[in-house]
Amino acid sequence: MNDVFDVAVIGGGPAGMMAAGRAAELDARVILLEKNPEPGKKLMMTGGGRCNILNAEFDMHKLTAKYGKKGKSLYSVFSQFGPEATWIFFESLGLKLKVEPENRAFPVSDSTEDVRRVLTEFMSKGKVTLVTGNRVRGLKHADGMITKIVQDAGSIQAKNIILATGGKSRPETGSTGDGFKWMREIGIEVGEPEAALVPVSIRNTWVKDVSGISLKDVKLTAWQGKIKHESQSGKMLFTHYGLSGPLVLNMSRNIGSLLKTGDVTLSLDLFPKLDLGALDKKIVEVFERGKNKMIKNSVGELVQPRLGLVILQLAGIIPETPLHHLTRENRLAFGSFLKDLPMKVSGLLGADQAIVTGGGVDLKEVDFKTMRSKKFQNLFLAGDILDFDRPSGGFSLQICWSTGYVAGSGAAGPG
Ligand SMILES: Cc1cc2nc3c(=O)[nH]c(=O)nc-3n(C[C@H](O)[C@H](O)[C@H](O)COP(=O)(O)OP(=O)(O)OC[C@H]3O[C@@H](n4cnc5c(N)ncnc54)[C@H](O)[C@@H]3O)c2cc1C
Repeated sequence: MNDVFDVAVIGGGPAGMMAAGRAAELDARVILLEKNPEPGKKLMMTGGGRCNILNAEFDMHKLTAKYGKKGKSLYSVFSQFGPEATWIFFESLGLKLKVEPENRAFPVSDSTEDVRRVLTEFMSKGKVTLVTGNRVRGLKHADGMITKIVQDAGSIQAKNIILATGGKSRPETGSTGDGFKWMREIGIEVGEPEAALVPVSIRNTWVKDVSGISLKDVKLTAWQGKIKHESQSGKMLFTHYGLSGPLVLNMSRNIGSLLKTGDVTLSLDLFPKLDLGALDKKIVEVFERGKNKMIKNSVGELVQPRLGLVILQLAGIIPETPLHHLTRENRLAFGSFLKDLPMKVSGLLGADQAIVTGGGVDLKEVDFKTMRSKKFQNLFLAGDILDFDRPSGGFSLQICWSTGYVAGSGAAGPG
Protein backbone atom coordinates (compact mmCIF):
# COMPACT_ATOMS: atom_id res chain seq x y z
CA MET A 1 0.00 0.00 0.00
CA ASN A 2 1.94 3.03 -1.22
CA ASP A 3 -0.77 5.68 -0.90
CA VAL A 4 -0.22 8.61 1.38
CA PHE A 5 -3.26 9.18 3.58
CA ASP A 6 -4.15 12.36 5.43
CA VAL A 7 -4.83 10.36 8.57
CA ALA A 8 -3.98 6.80 9.59
CA VAL A 9 -5.72 5.49 12.69
CA ILE A 10 -4.14 2.49 14.42
CA GLY A 11 -6.68 0.43 16.38
CA GLY A 12 -10.33 -0.12 15.53
CA GLY A 13 -11.83 0.07 19.01
CA PRO A 14 -14.42 2.71 19.99
CA ALA A 15 -11.78 5.47 20.17
CA GLY A 16 -10.26 4.59 16.79
CA MET A 17 -13.62 4.28 15.04
CA MET A 18 -14.79 7.62 16.39
CA ALA A 19 -11.48 9.28 15.45
CA ALA A 20 -11.49 7.83 11.92
CA GLY A 21 -15.13 8.74 11.27
CA ARG A 22 -14.66 12.28 12.58
CA ALA A 23 -11.51 12.94 10.54
CA ALA A 24 -13.28 11.62 7.42
CA GLU A 25 -16.30 13.81 8.16
CA LEU A 26 -13.88 16.76 7.90
CA ASP A 27 -12.89 15.54 4.43
CA ALA A 28 -9.60 13.89 5.37
CA ARG A 29 -8.52 10.75 3.49
CA VAL A 30 -8.50 8.24 6.31
CA ILE A 31 -7.27 4.67 6.74
CA LEU A 32 -8.03 2.59 9.84
CA LEU A 33 -5.70 -0.32 10.65
CA GLU A 34 -7.06 -3.10 12.85
CA LYS A 35 -5.39 -6.41 13.54
CA ASN A 36 -8.58 -8.37 14.31
CA PRO A 37 -10.83 -9.58 11.50
CA GLU A 38 -13.44 -7.05 12.68
CA PRO A 39 -13.27 -3.76 14.59
CA GLY A 40 -14.72 -3.29 18.08
CA LYS A 41 -14.11 -6.71 19.63
CA LYS A 42 -13.88 -5.32 23.16
CA LEU A 43 -16.76 -2.92 22.48
CA MET A 44 -18.92 -6.00 21.87
CA MET A 45 -18.37 -7.08 25.50
CA THR A 46 -19.35 -3.78 27.05
CA GLY A 47 -22.16 -3.52 29.54
CA GLY A 48 -22.72 -7.28 29.38
CA GLY A 49 -23.58 -6.97 25.65
CA ARG A 50 -25.84 -3.94 26.22
CA CYS A 51 -23.08 -1.28 26.08
CA ASN A 52 -23.15 1.31 28.83
CA ILE A 53 -22.32 3.85 26.16
CA LEU A 54 -21.89 6.92 28.36
CA ASN A 55 -22.78 8.41 31.70
CA ALA A 56 -25.45 11.06 31.35
CA GLU A 57 -23.77 13.39 33.84
CA PHE A 58 -24.02 16.68 31.99
CA ASP A 59 -22.55 18.86 34.75
CA MET A 60 -18.92 19.39 33.76
CA HIS A 61 -17.61 19.75 37.34
CA LYS A 62 -19.37 16.63 38.59
CA LEU A 63 -18.30 14.74 35.48
CA THR A 64 -14.60 15.58 35.62
CA ALA A 65 -14.61 14.86 39.39
CA LYS A 66 -15.46 11.25 38.52
CA TYR A 67 -12.02 10.92 36.95
CA GLY A 68 -10.18 11.97 40.13
CA LYS A 69 -7.21 14.31 40.05
CA LYS A 70 -6.49 13.65 36.39
CA GLY A 71 -10.03 14.71 35.46
CA LYS A 72 -8.97 18.35 35.00
CA SER A 73 -7.14 17.35 31.81
CA LEU A 74 -10.54 16.40 30.38
CA TYR A 75 -12.15 19.87 30.61
CA SER A 76 -10.96 20.81 27.17
CA VAL A 77 -12.03 17.58 25.41
CA PHE A 78 -15.38 17.46 27.22
CA SER A 79 -16.12 21.08 26.35
CA GLN A 80 -15.53 20.21 22.69
CA PHE A 81 -17.37 16.87 22.78
CA GLY A 82 -18.83 15.84 26.15
CA PRO A 83 -21.63 13.42 27.10
CA GLU A 84 -24.39 15.69 25.78
CA ALA A 85 -22.70 16.03 22.38
CA THR A 86 -22.06 12.27 22.38
CA TRP A 87 -25.72 11.61 23.09
CA ILE A 88 -26.77 13.90 20.20
CA PHE A 89 -24.12 12.33 17.96
CA PHE A 90 -25.40 8.77 18.45
CA GLU A 91 -29.04 9.76 18.17
CA SER A 92 -28.24 11.58 14.91
CA LEU A 93 -26.85 8.28 13.62
CA GLY A 94 -30.20 6.68 14.46
CA LEU A 95 -29.18 5.07 17.76
CA LYS A 96 -31.75 6.04 20.40
CA LEU A 97 -30.42 6.09 23.96
CA LYS A 98 -32.02 5.71 27.40
CA VAL A 99 -30.82 6.41 30.95
CA GLU A 100 -30.85 3.83 33.74
CA PRO A 101 -29.98 4.26 37.44
CA GLU A 102 -26.70 6.04 38.26
CA ASN A 103 -27.03 7.97 34.97
CA ARG A 104 -25.84 4.96 32.98
CA ALA A 105 -26.92 5.39 29.37
CA PHE A 106 -27.59 2.43 27.05
CA PRO A 107 -28.98 2.01 23.55
CA VAL A 108 -32.77 1.63 23.73
CA SER A 109 -32.27 -1.61 21.77
CA ASP A 110 -29.94 -2.93 24.54
CA SER A 111 -27.63 -4.04 21.76
CA THR A 112 -23.90 -3.38 21.55
CA GLU A 113 -24.01 -4.63 17.98
CA ASP A 114 -26.11 -1.56 17.13
CA VAL A 115 -23.39 0.70 18.53
CA ARG A 116 -20.77 -0.97 16.39
CA ARG A 117 -23.05 -0.86 13.36
CA VAL A 118 -23.69 2.89 13.54
CA LEU A 119 -19.98 3.58 14.05
CA THR A 120 -19.13 1.45 11.04
CA GLU A 121 -21.76 3.32 9.00
CA PHE A 122 -20.31 6.62 10.22
CA MET A 123 -16.90 5.55 8.91
CA SER A 124 -18.32 4.25 5.61
CA LYS A 125 -20.12 7.54 5.03
CA GLY A 126 -16.76 9.32 5.19
CA LYS A 127 -15.18 6.63 2.96
CA VAL A 128 -12.69 5.51 5.59
CA THR A 129 -10.51 2.71 4.21
CA LEU A 130 -10.88 -0.06 6.77
CA VAL A 131 -8.05 -2.61 6.78
CA THR A 132 -8.66 -5.52 9.14
CA GLY A 133 -6.66 -8.64 9.97
CA ASN A 134 -3.48 -6.63 9.62
CA ARG A 135 -1.16 -6.05 12.55
CA VAL A 136 0.88 -2.89 12.89
CA ARG A 137 4.43 -3.74 14.01
CA GLY A 138 5.84 -0.35 14.88
CA LEU A 139 6.48 3.26 14.00
CA LYS A 140 9.45 4.96 12.31
CA HIS A 141 10.25 8.56 13.16
CA ALA A 142 12.59 11.41 12.29
CA ASP A 143 12.81 15.07 13.33
CA GLY A 144 9.84 15.01 15.68
CA MET A 145 7.54 13.39 13.11
CA ILE A 146 6.24 9.85 12.66
CA THR A 147 7.40 8.97 9.15
CA LYS A 148 6.13 5.44 8.63
CA ILE A 149 3.80 2.82 10.03
CA VAL A 150 5.34 -0.61 9.71
CA GLN A 151 2.79 -3.39 9.41
CA ASP A 152 2.39 -6.95 8.23
CA ALA A 153 1.20 -5.86 4.80
CA GLY A 154 3.99 -3.39 3.93
CA SER A 155 4.43 0.08 5.35
CA ILE A 156 2.10 3.06 5.24
CA GLN A 157 2.64 6.78 5.28
CA ALA A 158 0.19 9.33 6.54
CA LYS A 159 0.40 13.03 7.29
CA ASN A 160 -1.07 12.43 10.74
CA ILE A 161 -1.33 9.31 12.85
CA ILE A 162 -3.90 8.59 15.57
CA LEU A 163 -2.87 5.93 18.01
CA ALA A 164 -5.88 4.13 19.53
CA THR A 165 -4.52 0.69 20.35
CA GLY A 166 -6.23 0.55 23.77
CA GLY A 167 -4.85 -0.66 27.09
CA LYS A 168 -3.81 -4.10 28.24
CA SER A 169 -6.94 -5.62 29.72
CA ARG A 170 -8.61 -8.63 28.06
CA PRO A 171 -5.74 -9.24 25.59
CA GLU A 172 -7.90 -11.76 23.69
CA THR A 173 -9.81 -8.75 22.31
CA GLY A 174 -6.65 -7.35 20.70
CA SER A 175 -5.65 -4.92 23.46
CA THR A 176 -2.17 -6.32 24.02
CA GLY A 177 -0.37 -3.09 24.92
CA ASP A 178 1.46 -2.73 21.56
CA GLY A 179 0.96 1.04 21.62
CA PHE A 180 2.59 1.29 25.05
CA LYS A 181 5.69 -0.45 23.69
CA TRP A 182 5.95 1.81 20.62
CA MET A 183 5.48 4.94 22.71
CA ARG A 184 8.27 3.93 25.06
CA GLU A 185 10.52 3.18 22.10
CA ILE A 186 10.11 6.72 20.77
CA GLY A 187 10.65 8.34 24.16
CA ILE A 188 7.07 9.01 25.26
CA GLU A 189 6.49 8.36 28.95
CA VAL A 190 4.14 5.47 29.74
CA GLY A 191 3.06 4.56 33.30
CA GLU A 192 3.20 0.87 34.12
CA PRO A 193 -0.24 -0.57 33.32
CA GLU A 194 -1.98 -2.14 36.30
CA ALA A 195 -5.44 -3.56 36.64
CA ALA A 196 -7.82 -0.74 37.59
CA LEU A 197 -11.40 -1.99 37.45
CA VAL A 198 -11.00 -5.64 38.30
CA PRO A 199 -12.97 -8.35 40.13
CA VAL A 200 -11.85 -9.46 43.59
CA SER A 201 -11.23 -13.05 44.64
CA ILE A 202 -12.36 -14.19 48.07
CA ARG A 203 -10.85 -16.85 50.31
CA ASN A 204 -14.09 -17.94 52.06
CA THR A 205 -15.27 -21.06 50.27
CA TRP A 206 -18.98 -20.26 50.89
CA VAL A 207 -18.90 -17.63 48.12
CA LYS A 208 -19.15 -20.47 45.60
CA ASP A 209 -22.54 -21.39 47.11
CA VAL A 210 -23.91 -17.93 46.37
CA SER A 211 -22.32 -17.50 42.95
CA GLY A 212 -24.62 -15.65 40.55
CA ILE A 213 -26.49 -13.70 43.23
CA SER A 214 -26.54 -9.99 42.54
CA LEU A 215 -27.32 -7.41 45.19
CA LYS A 216 -28.53 -3.83 44.83
CA ASP A 217 -27.96 -0.96 47.27
CA VAL A 218 -25.54 -2.78 49.54
CA LYS A 219 -22.52 -1.31 51.29
CA LEU A 220 -19.01 -2.71 51.28
CA THR A 221 -16.27 -1.60 53.65
CA ALA A 222 -12.60 -2.50 53.36
CA TRP A 223 -10.76 -3.25 56.59
CA GLN A 224 -7.12 -3.89 57.29
CA GLY A 225 -6.80 -5.30 60.78
CA LYS A 226 -8.80 -2.90 62.95
CA ILE A 227 -8.43 0.01 60.57
CA LYS A 228 -11.45 0.90 58.52
CA HIS A 229 -10.65 2.09 55.00
CA GLU A 230 -12.91 2.86 52.07
CA SER A 231 -16.69 2.32 52.20
CA GLN A 232 -18.90 2.44 49.10
CA SER A 233 -22.49 1.55 48.26
CA GLY A 234 -24.00 0.17 45.09
CA LYS A 235 -24.54 -3.03 43.13
CA MET A 236 -22.41 -6.14 43.45
CA LEU A 237 -22.35 -9.68 42.21
CA PHE A 238 -21.13 -12.94 43.78
CA THR A 239 -19.13 -15.05 41.34
CA HIS A 240 -17.58 -18.50 41.63
CA TYR A 241 -14.24 -16.92 42.62
CA GLY A 242 -15.48 -13.97 44.68
CA LEU A 243 -17.00 -10.61 43.89
CA SER A 244 -17.66 -8.43 40.89
CA GLY A 245 -20.14 -5.73 39.83
CA PRO A 246 -19.73 -1.94 39.79
CA LEU A 247 -19.33 -1.54 43.56
CA VAL A 248 -16.46 -4.02 43.71
CA LEU A 249 -14.81 -2.89 40.46
CA ASN A 250 -14.80 0.69 41.72
CA MET A 251 -13.15 -0.31 45.01
CA SER A 252 -10.66 -2.68 43.38
CA ARG A 253 -7.86 -0.22 42.85
CA ASN A 254 -7.81 0.77 46.54
CA ILE A 255 -8.17 -2.86 47.62
CA GLY A 256 -5.15 -3.63 45.42
CA SER A 257 -3.11 -0.88 47.10
CA LEU A 258 -4.10 -2.14 50.58
CA LEU A 259 -3.13 -5.71 49.67
CA LYS A 260 0.44 -4.50 49.11
CA THR A 261 0.70 -3.76 52.85
CA GLY A 262 -1.28 -6.65 54.38
CA ASP A 263 -4.45 -8.72 54.49
CA VAL A 264 -7.77 -7.10 53.60
CA THR A 265 -11.23 -8.05 54.83
CA LEU A 266 -14.41 -6.77 53.21
CA SER A 267 -17.50 -6.33 55.31
CA LEU A 268 -20.80 -6.50 53.45
CA ASP A 269 -23.78 -4.61 54.86
CA LEU A 270 -26.95 -5.98 53.26
CA PHE A 271 -29.16 -3.36 54.92
CA PRO A 272 -27.16 -0.11 54.89
CA LYS A 273 -30.28 2.03 55.41
CA LEU A 274 -31.20 0.33 58.72
CA ASP A 275 -29.21 0.33 61.94
CA LEU A 276 -28.95 -2.90 63.93
CA GLY A 277 -31.99 -2.03 66.10
CA ALA A 278 -34.24 -1.21 63.13
CA LEU A 279 -33.08 -4.32 61.31
CA ASP A 280 -33.81 -6.50 64.35
CA LYS A 281 -37.35 -5.09 64.42
CA LYS A 282 -37.78 -6.06 60.78
CA ILE A 283 -36.41 -9.56 61.47
CA VAL A 284 -38.78 -9.98 64.43
CA GLU A 285 -41.74 -9.05 62.19
CA VAL A 286 -40.73 -11.55 59.50
CA PHE A 287 -40.06 -14.34 62.01
CA GLU A 288 -43.34 -13.58 63.82
CA ARG A 289 -45.27 -14.02 60.58
CA GLY A 290 -43.67 -17.39 59.92
CA LYS A 291 -43.46 -18.64 63.51
CA ASN A 292 -44.65 -22.12 62.58
CA LYS A 293 -42.07 -22.45 59.79
CA MET A 294 -38.48 -23.61 59.88
CA ILE A 295 -36.08 -20.66 59.76
CA LYS A 296 -34.67 -21.76 56.39
CA ASN A 297 -38.10 -21.21 54.88
CA SER A 298 -38.39 -17.66 56.21
CA VAL A 299 -34.98 -16.13 55.53
CA GLY A 300 -35.94 -15.65 51.89
CA GLU A 301 -38.12 -12.73 52.98
CA LEU A 302 -34.97 -10.91 54.09
CA VAL A 303 -32.22 -12.02 51.69
CA GLN A 304 -31.85 -14.31 48.68
CA PRO A 305 -32.53 -17.83 50.06
CA ARG A 306 -29.08 -19.23 49.11
CA LEU A 307 -27.36 -16.33 50.83
CA GLY A 308 -29.72 -16.75 53.79
CA LEU A 309 -28.62 -20.38 54.20
CA VAL A 310 -24.96 -19.35 54.20
CA ILE A 311 -25.63 -16.70 56.84
CA LEU A 312 -27.51 -19.23 59.01
CA GLN A 313 -24.50 -21.49 58.82
CA LEU A 314 -22.09 -18.65 59.72
CA ALA A 315 -24.33 -17.66 62.63
CA GLY A 316 -24.33 -21.27 63.88
CA ILE A 317 -28.09 -21.74 63.39
CA ILE A 318 -29.50 -25.07 62.22
CA PRO A 319 -31.61 -24.26 59.13
CA GLU A 320 -34.37 -26.66 60.24
CA THR A 321 -34.87 -24.82 63.55
CA PRO A 322 -38.59 -23.95 63.96
CA LEU A 323 -38.87 -20.19 64.33
CA HIS A 324 -40.77 -20.47 67.64
CA HIS A 325 -37.68 -22.26 69.05
CA LEU A 326 -35.19 -19.66 67.86
CA THR A 327 -33.35 -17.96 70.73
CA ARG A 328 -32.86 -14.20 70.95
CA GLU A 329 -29.07 -14.75 70.72
CA ASN A 330 -29.57 -16.71 67.49
CA ARG A 331 -31.74 -13.95 66.05
CA LEU A 332 -29.27 -11.21 66.99
CA ALA A 333 -26.36 -13.23 65.56
CA PHE A 334 -28.28 -13.64 62.31
CA GLY A 335 -29.00 -9.88 62.18
CA SER A 336 -25.42 -8.95 62.87
CA PHE A 337 -24.22 -11.05 59.90
CA LEU A 338 -26.75 -9.27 57.71
CA LYS A 339 -25.08 -5.99 58.69
CA ASP A 340 -21.50 -7.26 58.73
CA LEU A 341 -20.77 -10.25 56.52
CA PRO A 342 -16.98 -10.57 56.54
CA MET A 343 -15.03 -11.85 53.53
CA LYS A 344 -11.28 -12.33 53.32
CA VAL A 345 -9.75 -11.04 50.10
CA SER A 346 -7.29 -13.45 48.52
CA GLY A 347 -6.35 -11.09 45.69
CA LEU A 348 -7.41 -9.22 42.61
CA LEU A 349 -8.00 -11.05 39.38
CA GLY A 350 -5.19 -10.31 36.93
CA ALA A 351 -4.99 -7.41 34.52
CA ASP A 352 -6.23 -9.82 31.87
CA GLN A 353 -9.65 -9.86 33.59
CA ALA A 354 -9.81 -6.11 34.20
CA ILE A 355 -12.43 -3.87 32.64
CA VAL A 356 -9.76 -1.25 32.11
CA THR A 357 -6.09 -0.97 32.97
CA GLY A 358 -4.65 1.95 34.86
CA GLY A 359 -1.35 3.33 33.66
CA GLY A 360 -0.76 4.22 30.03
CA VAL A 361 0.58 7.26 28.22
CA ASP A 362 1.42 9.98 30.74
CA LEU A 363 -1.08 12.82 30.38
CA LYS A 364 1.64 15.45 30.36
CA GLU A 365 2.72 14.09 26.96
CA VAL A 366 -0.54 15.29 25.36
CA ASP A 367 -2.04 18.63 24.37
CA PHE A 368 -5.68 18.07 25.28
CA LYS A 369 -6.98 20.84 23.01
CA THR A 370 -6.20 18.59 20.05
CA MET A 371 -5.01 15.27 21.57
CA ARG A 372 -1.70 15.89 19.81
CA SER A 373 1.53 14.50 21.27
CA LYS A 374 3.78 17.25 22.57
CA LYS A 375 6.86 15.46 21.25
CA PHE A 376 5.63 14.37 17.82
CA GLN A 377 3.86 17.00 15.71
CA ASN A 378 1.84 14.50 13.67
CA LEU A 379 0.93 11.99 16.39
CA PHE A 380 -2.46 12.04 18.18
CA LEU A 381 -3.67 9.74 20.97
CA ALA A 382 -7.15 8.56 21.94
CA GLY A 383 -8.93 6.12 24.24
CA ASP A 384 -7.66 3.57 26.75
CA ILE A 385 -4.04 4.16 25.76
CA LEU A 386 -4.17 7.25 27.99
CA ASP A 387 -3.52 7.08 31.71
CA PHE A 388 -6.91 8.01 33.18
CA ASP A 389 -8.54 6.63 36.32
CA ARG A 390 -12.30 6.18 36.04
CA PRO A 391 -15.11 4.37 37.78
CA SER A 392 -17.45 1.99 36.02
CA GLY A 393 -20.66 3.51 34.61
CA GLY A 394 -19.93 4.56 31.02
CA PHE A 395 -16.98 6.78 31.95
CA SER A 396 -14.43 4.69 30.01
CA LEU A 397 -16.29 4.81 26.72
CA GLN A 398 -16.89 8.53 27.22
CA ILE A 399 -13.11 9.04 27.19
CA CYS A 400 -13.00 7.10 23.91
CA TRP A 401 -15.77 9.13 22.26
CA SER A 402 -14.41 12.49 23.46
CA THR A 403 -10.69 11.95 22.86
CA GLY A 404 -11.45 10.10 19.60
CA TYR A 405 -13.57 12.97 18.31
CA VAL A 406 -11.04 15.63 19.31
CA ALA A 407 -8.10 13.62 17.92
CA GLY A 408 -10.02 13.08 14.66
CA SER A 409 -10.72 16.83 14.39
CA GLY A 410 -7.10 17.68 15.25
CA ALA A 411 -5.60 15.18 12.82
CA ALA A 412 -7.88 16.29 9.97
CA GLY A 413 -7.10 19.95 10.61
CA PRO A 414 -4.53 22.06 8.80
CA GLY A 415 -1.92 21.12 11.43
C1 LIG B 1 -15.92 -6.87 29.88
C2 LIG B 1 -15.83 -5.38 29.68
C3 LIG B 1 -16.95 -4.59 29.79
C4 LIG B 1 -16.86 -3.20 29.63
N1 LIG B 1 -18.00 -2.47 29.72
C5 LIG B 1 -17.92 -1.12 29.58
C6 LIG B 1 -19.11 -0.34 29.61
O1 LIG B 1 -20.24 -0.85 29.64
N2 LIG B 1 -18.97 1.02 29.54
C7 LIG B 1 -17.75 1.64 29.42
O2 LIG B 1 -17.68 2.87 29.39
N3 LIG B 1 -16.62 0.90 29.31
C8 LIG B 1 -16.68 -0.46 29.38
N4 LIG B 1 -15.54 -1.20 29.25
C9 LIG B 1 -14.26 -0.50 28.92
C10 LIG B 1 -14.22 -0.20 27.40
O3 LIG B 1 -14.49 -1.38 26.67
C11 LIG B 1 -12.84 0.32 27.00
O4 LIG B 1 -12.60 1.51 27.73
C12 LIG B 1 -12.79 0.63 25.50
O5 LIG B 1 -13.00 -0.53 24.71
C13 LIG B 1 -11.44 1.22 25.10
O6 LIG B 1 -11.50 1.56 23.75
P1 LIG B 1 -10.20 1.83 22.87
O7 LIG B 1 -10.68 2.13 21.51
O8 LIG B 1 -9.32 2.82 23.54
O9 LIG B 1 -9.41 0.45 22.90
P2 LIG B 1 -9.85 -1.05 22.57
O10 LIG B 1 -11.31 -1.22 22.65
O11 LIG B 1 -8.97 -1.87 23.41
O12 LIG B 1 -9.44 -1.19 21.04
C14 LIG B 1 -8.11 -1.16 20.62
C15 LIG B 1 -8.03 -1.80 19.27
O13 LIG B 1 -6.70 -1.70 18.76
C16 LIG B 1 -6.37 -2.89 18.10
N5 LIG B 1 -4.92 -3.05 18.10
C17 LIG B 1 -4.10 -3.18 19.18
N6 LIG B 1 -2.83 -3.35 18.78
C18 LIG B 1 -2.85 -3.31 17.42
C19 LIG B 1 -1.84 -3.47 16.42
N7 LIG B 1 -0.57 -3.71 16.74
N8 LIG B 1 -2.20 -3.38 15.10
C20 LIG B 1 -3.50 -3.17 14.74
N9 LIG B 1 -4.49 -3.05 15.64
C21 LIG B 1 -4.17 -3.12 16.97
C22 LIG B 1 -7.05 -3.97 18.93
O14 LIG B 1 -7.22 -5.16 18.20
C23 LIG B 1 -8.36 -3.30 19.29
O15 LIG B 1 -9.39 -3.58 18.38
C24 LIG B 1 -15.61 -2.59 29.37
C25 LIG B 1 -14.47 -3.40 29.23
C26 LIG B 1 -14.57 -4.77 29.37
C27 LIG B 1 -13.34 -5.61 29.21
